[in-house]
Amino acid sequence: MDQVVCLRCMICGREYDPENVPYTCPSCGPEGILDVIYDYSLIARRFTKERLLSNRDLSIWRYLELLPLEPKKLRLPLHVGWTPLYQAEELGRDVGCPHLLVKDDGRNPTASFKDRASSIGVAKAIELGHQAITCASTGNAASSLSGVSASVGLRSFIFVPHNAPKAKVAQLLMYGAKVFLVQGTYDQAFDLCLEASREFGWYSRNTAFNPYLSEGKKTGALEICEQLGWRAPDTVFVSVGDGCIIGGLWKGFHDLLQLGFIDHMPRLVGVQAEGCQPIKHAFETCQAVKTVQPETMADSIAVGHPRDALKALRALRDSDGFMVAVSDQQILDAMGLLARKTGIFGEPAGVTGFAGLLKALSQERVDPSERVVVVVTGNGLKDVDSALRASPEPTEIEPSLEAVARELRGRS
Ligand SMILES: *Cc1c(COP(=O)(O)O)cnc(C)c1O
Ligand SMILES: [Zn+2]
Repeated sequence: MDQVVCLRCMICGREYDPENVPYTCPSCGPEGILDVIYDYSLIARRFTKERLLSNRDLSIWRYLELLPLEPKKLRLPLHVGWTPLYQAEELGRDVGCPHLLVKDDGRNPTASFKDRASSIGVAKAIELGHQAITCASTGNAASSLSGVSASVGLRSFIFVPHNAPKAKVAQLLMYGAKVFLVQGTYDQAFDLCLEASREFGWYSRNTAFNPYLSEGKKTGALEICEQLGWRAPDTVFVSVGDGCIIGGLWKGFHDLLQLGFIDHMPRLVGVQAEGCQPIKHAFETCQAVKTVQPETMADSIAVGHPRDALKALRALRDSDGFMVAVSDQQILDAMGLLARKTGIFGEPAGVTGFAGLLKALSQERVDPSERVVVVVTGNGLKDVDSALRASPEPTEIEPSLEAVARELRGRS
């Protein structure tokens, strides 16, 4: 892993050899999350645009030189990443953002952005010789981890809040994870999982606590730039829970800037639910993050105690970005609009970035000339109950053509 110089604490700045420190800063404790620091001049010699052009691996592994892994030991069978980046012109014109692009990460193997991080977590667990891996999750990190683990025969131990949507729990069970439905919140499940991983020696794929996950999530940014021919977008909208995705996207853009692949840092806009906006609050008041009681049906971003806030806040400040909060109703409306206009069906948290764009447009915080990427982070089939709340009732009819005709007349 000579491409990695060290792991640097986001609080105190102390630097560590990755061999000696598996998770967080020994002097700051679990809050002292670590940032992977790279040797960009070494990477620049191995990783060029020309080489990428001839690389036929259309998955996150095409960026292996920029990832904190031992390349020799690596091979994961599931196809993760290189998800489509659609030009959404008609929708863009309708909403006053003609240069709109939508990255559909619901197309990953377990149907969320989390597969990018889980792949790195599982690769790392194998590299370090672990037989079992664990995480706590609002749902998607869990289903993702259990799926990626299943693909390589790693045991997974999963802690999810008891109210996680059924489809996500079904995924866990199908992938053969040992599932603990915790009678409590995601935040409580997280703390329990950390204790269990220490006690039983499982490798921990816990957001922020594990320093490598945001490195997996950064592949989303690498792809966006490569898919745009290395012309970085102006602005990127994404939903925020723990803050790992937005922090990871920043890291990807940062890497490409350091390597001279792109010429500017896109402005990063994070979107939270009105009923759970601790990162927005911390960003706007410049105060420490305060834990809140989450109140939103967007379960994947119902995170009252965000673990990756430091990286999220760095992303927002360094990119001159901002935060937006949207109501559950705005999320449901955005879900239907996106699906009807683009054919992309996202879960509530999956479309929260898009809901945030609509709100930012209405507040004139985005100029119509901007090239905007909206990241859809999870597939709508993961939470069918919410989708049905966003939809009109279907029309029930008797099985006759006359009934169809009658309905059509009634509607016209
Ligand atoms: C996890 C998740 C998010 C939020 O990502 P964070 O890294 O926790 O900020 C958003 N949308 C979906 C669908 C997710 O699963
Ligand atoms: Zn520290």
